[in-house]
Amino acid sequence: MSPPQTEIDTTGQYAELRRGVQQLCARFPGDYWRRLDADRGYPVEFVEAMTEAGFLAALIPEEHGGGGASIAEASVILEEVNRSGGNAGVCHAQMYVMGALVRHGAAEQRERWLPPLAEGQLRLQAFGVTEPTAGSDTTRIQTRAERAGDEYVITGQKIWTSRAEYSDLMLLLARTTPLEAVKRRTEGLSLFLVDLREVDEKELTIRPLETMINHHTTEIFFDGLRVPRENRIGEEGQGFRYILDGMNAERILIAAESIGDGGWFIERSVAYANERIVFDRPIGQNQGVQFPIAQAYANLRAADLMRWQAAALFDGGSSCGAEANMAKMLAADAAWEAANVCLETHGGFGFAREHDVERKFREAKLYQIAPVSNNLVLSYLAQHVLGLPRSY
Ligand SMILES: Cc1cc2nc3c(=O)[nH]c(=O)nc-3n(C[C@H](O)[C@H](O)[C@H](O)COP(=O)(O)OP(=O)(O)OC[C@H]3O[C@@H](n4cnc5c(N)ncnc54)[C@H](O)[C@@H]3O)c2cc1C
Repeated sequence: MSPPQTEIDTTGQYAELRRGVQQLCARFPGDYWRRLDADRGYPVEFVEAMTEAGFLAALIPEEHGGGGASIAEASVILEEVNRSGGNAGVCHAQMYVMGALVRHGAAEQRERWLPPLAEGQLRLQAFGVTEPTAGSDTTRIQTRAERAGDEYVITGQKIWTSRAEYSDLMLLLARTTPLEAVKRRTEGLSLFLVDLREVDEKELTIRPLETMINHHTTEIFFDGLRVPRENRIGEEGQGFRYILDGMNAERILIAAESIGDGGWFIERSVAYANERIVFDRPIGQNQGVQFPIAQAYANLRAADLMRWQAAALFDGGSSCGAEANMAKMLAADAAWEAANVCLETHGGFGFAREHDVERKFREAKLYQIAPVSNNLVLSYLAQHVLGLPRSY
């Protein structure tokens, strides 16, 4: 008899939405993701299925052909993908990045881009912020966008721009006013929607980066890339503000992915601990095995409460910077704890590819570091919530 599904969200809310995503994900089982992981392939069929089902357009307003979903609902979609053993990281940016266009794009930009995105004719999967020298200090990015008539000319370099090879559009942050010439470091940055289908290869080079997970990440070199002025999102110099604005949504969605990972790890741990017999008894009968699983489950449930609180504040239009950051950090830590417990519960078999534990273990680690490292979350809480001195 298979063990009952381990409940994380016990409220039963969103049950229908969960079932819909679960049914889709059942078509893409562990061996699908395992094969892609080995070949470093992009899950085209999965992304197409998610698009066709309307899941990737969940956050696009209904008037532009999207689902008009709340952040809570969108988070359930990504959670269930990771919970199924898949990896929402292959397509989650479409949800995060969309916010900049939805909230700060001009009416013509929304009309132009959102309907084809909602219908799946276009992919917006790439978000170019991080640079090799600036790291977490985003205001120090050096990629420049200089005005030349009706265009901007972009020069510089990005790193870790994931899915750029599989995206039609990229949201790009670049400096339009040098750091020395602005009053506040957060000023003088602008946001652009780059149409990757139109670029001249001499002006933009995308180089894939090999990493420990199958994340299709790249470094990008801009050598005088010309971008029409009409592709600038919002006002010149206000790009950092627009990005910050979208970050709370991003944190909540990432938290949900980690909750999904954690649920998968715990369920796998419980199943294996019940069925694996050593010394004539299931290993899960030993407290040394069952307590870590129970502890990880309790921590995951607690982190999930913070995710729901952050989502409720966001959907209610209240400020939720602290809650969104805490949700991301607590959920990433809880998932990582569950990942370790799951690997240890499986003993040597945890290292065997066929169980998917080692793959999910590698994937779950990412969210303690990206899109913002947990240290930077703690700095934010210390300074902005607790009133401690700025530490950097
Ligand atoms: C697989 C992958 C995919 C990614 N995808 C994208 C993407 O699509 N788009 C994008 O723009 N970026 C992406 N990133 C980048 C990611 O957001 C950054 O890696 C992350 O924000 C951390 O920045 P960094 O790597 O430069 O680390 P650094 O800023 O160099 O930090 C290194 C370490 O020092 C710590 N640290 C730094 N400053 C402080 C401080 N003041 N106090 C305490 N600790 C500190 C950090 O916590 C970290 O542990 C991706 C990264 C990875 C690995």
